[in-house]
Amino acid sequence: PKRRLLTGLIGSGIQKSLSPALHEGEGDAHGLRCQYRLMDLHELAMTPEDLPTLLEAAQLAGFNGVNITHPCKQRVIEYLDALSPEAQALGAVNTVVFESGKRTGHNTDGWGFAQGFRHGLPTADLTHAVQLGAGGAGAAVAHAALNLGMQRLSLFDQDHDRAQALAQRLQGQFPDQQIDAGHHLETTMQSASGLIHATPTGMAAHPGLPLPAEWLRPDHWVAEVVYVPLETELLRAARAQGCATVHGGFMAVYQAARAFELFSGCAPDLGRMLAHFEQL
Ligand code: NAD
Repeated sequence: PKRRLLTGLIGSGIQKSLSPALHEGEGDAHGLRCQYRLMDLHELAMTPEDLPTLLEAAQLAGFNGVNITHPCKQRVIEYLDALSPEAQALGAVNTVVFESGKRTGHNTDGWGFAQGFRHGLPTADLTHAVQLGAGGAGAAVAHAALNLGMQRLSLFDQDHDRAQALAQRLQGQFPDQQIDAGHHLETTMQSASGLIHATPTGMAAHPGLPLPAEWLRPDHWVAEVVYVPLETELLRAARAQGCATVHGGFMAVYQAARAFELFSGCAPDLGRMLAHFEQL
């Protein structure tokens, strides 16, 4: 009989998630009988208060683990037995593995971003990145960018206090790199080597550009985190300026790939998962 892999996602408003297709497709390719179930708080009329019930139910039903998304990535931590160093550093969990009755929290978002960055922008100048957005995704990608070796990182957020708090936390974790919360985006872009975009701008509900296109130069690289749509206005504008770019789909696929590996113990084929994603 085939080995079974039972996994899923806990979050709110996740009906359009591509994770079931990505995980089950990769499971098939490994000869696993993989089922990936959605536990949508919205559909279940539940709140993050119900996380203990959902985790308990998944564990009792024999799940190997669950992914965690908005609005539960921080709230879930108090219900876990252990955290990976990455999840600990970020204070956020997107993957919980159940093993021998224990719940261990991981965070694969940063790994996903770093892997996508290396893939899409292999020769990027890491001297000085500007990052827009210091929310949940922003925290993970800023951490990953510093792990990649970014020498200076300037964080901007329309909520300046949020950028300031993240910069302060990261500076403590990466004392040899320079992290600041910026005030003047236009002038900071002039001295930057690239741009990381981690606000929701460019999604259907938040159309438009997160900064004026003319602030981009051909020698800036642009790493986008938004992946619905895959081709954002920012990426179009950046390419029109001649910038090297990477879209947010890589991060989305690679964080899933790493979670699949944690759940199954099988090494995912990143190229195959990416090709599958592009067909969805
Ligand atoms: P969030 O709400 O936690 O954070 C967004 C931050 O952006 C907030 O701090 C907000 O103040 C700031 N912001 C919004 N508009 C801004 C603007 N115009 N200029 C400056 N700051 C602005 O959201 P999040 O969970 O971090 O998600 C952000 C985006 O990243 C979403 O589009 C989400 O879909 C995407 N995302 C992608 C992946 C992936 O795998 N590719 C993973 C997670 C999130």
